[in-house]
Amino acid sequence: MYQCELARLAASIVRMSFQVFGLPVSRGVAIGRAVLVASSRVDVAHYFVKDERVDAEIDRLRVARDAVATELGALQRDLPTEAPAELSALLDVHLMLLHDDTLTGATKQWIRERHYNAEWALSAQLEVLARQFDEMEDEYLRERKADLEQVVERMLRAMARGPASSYAPAPGVRARDFAGEDPLVLVANDIAPADMLQFKRSVFTGFITDVGGKTSHTAIVARSMDIPAVVGAREASRIIRQDDWVVIDGDAGIVIVDPSAIVLEEYRFRQRQSELGRERLARLRHTPAVTLDGEKVELLANIEMPSDAVVALEAGAVGVGLFRSEFLFMNRGGELPGEDEQFEAYRAAVEAMKGLPVTIRTVDIGADKPLDRMSANELRHEHALNPALGLRAIRWSLSEPGMFRQQLRAILRASAYGKVKLLIPMVAHLSEVLHTLEALARAKQQLTEAGRAFTAVQVGAMIEVPAAALMLPTILRHFDFVSVGTNDLIQYTLAIDRADEAVAHLYDPWHPAVLSLLSQTIRQAHAAGKDVSVCGEMAGDPAFTELLLAMGLRSFSMHPSQIASIKQRVLLTDAKRWAGQVEKVLSADDPEVRCAAVALALASAQRGASLPVA
Ligand code: PEP
Ligand code: MG
Repeated sequence: MYQCELARLAASIVRMSFQVFGLPVSRGVAIGRAVLVASSRVDVAHYFVKDERVDAEIDRLRVARDAVATELGALQRDLPTEAPAELSALLDVHLMLLHDDTLTGATKQWIRERHYNAEWALSAQLEVLARQFDEMEDEYLRERKADLEQVVERMLRAMARGPASSYAPAPGVRARDFAGEDPLVLVANDIAPADMLQFKRSVFTGFITDVGGKTSHTAIVARSMDIPAVVGAREASRIIRQDDWVVIDGDAGIVIVDPSAIVLEEYRFRQRQSELGRERLARLRHTPAVTLDGEKVELLANIEMPSDAVVALEAGAVGVGLFRSEFLFMNRGGELPGEDEQFEAYRAAVEAMKGLPVTIRTVDIGADKPLDRMSANELRHEHALNPALGLRAIRWSLSEPGMFRQQLRAILRASAYGKVKLLIPMVAHLSEVLHTLEALARAKQQLTEAGRAFTAVQVGAMIEVPAAALMLPTILRHFDFVSVGTNDLIQYTLAIDRADEAVAHLYDPWHPAVLSLLSQTIRQAHAAGKDVSVCGEMAGDPAFTELLLAMGLRSFSMHPSQIASIKQRVLLTDAKRWAGQVEKVLSADDPEVRCAAVALALASAQRGASLPVA
C-alpha cells in the first residue's frame, strides 16, 4: 500500500518514471501505450481504422451525437408538466456535455491521430475526463461524472444502432499487424474472464489489472493468450494515465510507467531475447515428450473455445486435457446455449483435433466465472458471500437438471465425430457422483430413443476439493480417470481465495499439504489402474515438472503456449533418479527449497560431479 501511495505521489507531483508491482501471470515483456478501460466497458470494440476510413469513422461519431441530441431534445419536450424542474435542468446538462468540445472534439483526435474506432475513441476520452472529474474539489462538479457517463452510454448505444463498422478487422488481426501504430497495453481495474476471452484476438499486446490472483480465471485466460500480463497491481488503473508508455515485465510482475530511454532499451533487448527463446522452443513441436530414462509423457492442452483446438494442435498437444465448456455459457444475457449449439461447438473442437482425445468438462459456472458480465470483485460484493464455496460447477449443474442433461447429450453426440472424454468438475460427495452418473445414463437413453449416434465415452472426475482427494478410492470406483485441478485444490486446501490479490502471497502450490494430496492422488489412481492427469496451472509451470514426473505423473494438461517449455523439461529429466527424492521433498518443511536442492544435486550428478543430495 505504502508503495502505491509513493507511486501516486510521484506521479502527481511531476510525471516521471515509476513502477507498479503486481503478480506475474503471463511471461514475457510488453511495451506499449496504456489504454485505460473501465471494467464496465471492456466489451466495447477495440480496433484500428485504416487511413481512408478515418473520415467515415468520424462521421459515425457525428451521426451518433446528432441522434443522442434528438433523443435528449425529445425527452425534454415530452416531460410532463408536473415533472420536477431539476429533470429538465439535468437534460440541459446532458446536452451541454454532449456538445462540449472536450468530449466530441477530443474523441475525433483519438480517431484521427491514433486511428481508434469511434467506440474505443469515445471510451478513451471518457476515461480521461472521468479522471479530471474525480480530481475536482467541488462536490457538485465531481458528481457530474455520472452524467457524462450516461451521455457516453447513450452515444455508444446510438453507434450500435447506427451504421455497422463494416471495416472492423477480421478476427486474428493484432496490434503488431498494424505497422505504424504504437503497440497498446490494456489497463483496467478488473476484467471478467469472459470479457478477457474477447481480447484473444484483439489489438492489445499486454494486460494490467488492479485485482486478481495468479490463478484467477481472468489470469488463466490472459496466460492462454500468451501475452505478458500482470494482475493484482492494486492502484495501476488509477495512477497510469491514458496513453502513458508502459513496460510490462510479465516475469517479475512489474509495470514500469514512462520508462527512461535506458530502461526501455534494456527491455527491448529482453523482449527480443524472449522471442528468440520462444522460436527455439517451437522447434520441439513435433518431438515426442520422453524423459531421459525413456518414460513417455502425454502433454495435453487446456482450451476455452473450439477455435483454440487449432492452436493446441499447432503447439504439439497430443489431445485436449481440459475444454472449459463454461466459456460457451457466459455473457449471453441469461440465455444459455441450447443442445444443438453446444453440440456444434464440441464437434468443432473434436474434428479440429483429428482423432486425438478431447476431454470436455461439464460447465463450471460460479465463483469467479459468473454467467453474466460481472467481474470477480462485483460478484464478491453483490452476490453470494463466498461464491467459491457456493453453487458452482457440478453443484450448479445438478441444481439445473434440464440444462445438465442437455449438455451431456451435446457432449455425447460429439463423440460420434472423434474421441471424447467427459470430465466432471468439483466433485466432493458420493451423492453428487451418483446423481451425475444417473443424469448421464438418462441422457444416453434419451439419445438412443431419439436415434442419435454416440459412442462410449470415458468419464472422469476432477480432484480439486480436498474431500475428493481424501476419499479417492471411492471416487475411483465410479470413474474411468481423474484429473487434478490444482488451482482449486490449492484454494480449498489452504482456504485462500484464488482470485483475491490480498491473500495471493499465501496461495502456495509448494505447501506440503498440497503436495502430499497431489502425490497421494497420483499414487492411488495408479494403484487402482486408472489414468490420472493434472490440468491445473502447476502442470504448465516448469518449476514443478521434475517433481510431478517423480511423483509418477505421465499426463500434463496446460495452455498450448506452455507445451514447448514443459516438453524441454521432460526431455531433460531422469524420472527414475528423481523418484527416489520425492519423499524427502514431501517431508521437508519448505518443499520449494528442498526441490531446488535436489534439482541442483541431480544436475551436478548428471554432469559427472558427485555433489551429495543434502
Ligand atoms: C483447476 O481448478 O485447477 C482447474 C483446472 O479448473 P479451473 O481453473 O477452471 O477452476
Ligand atoms: Mg477448478
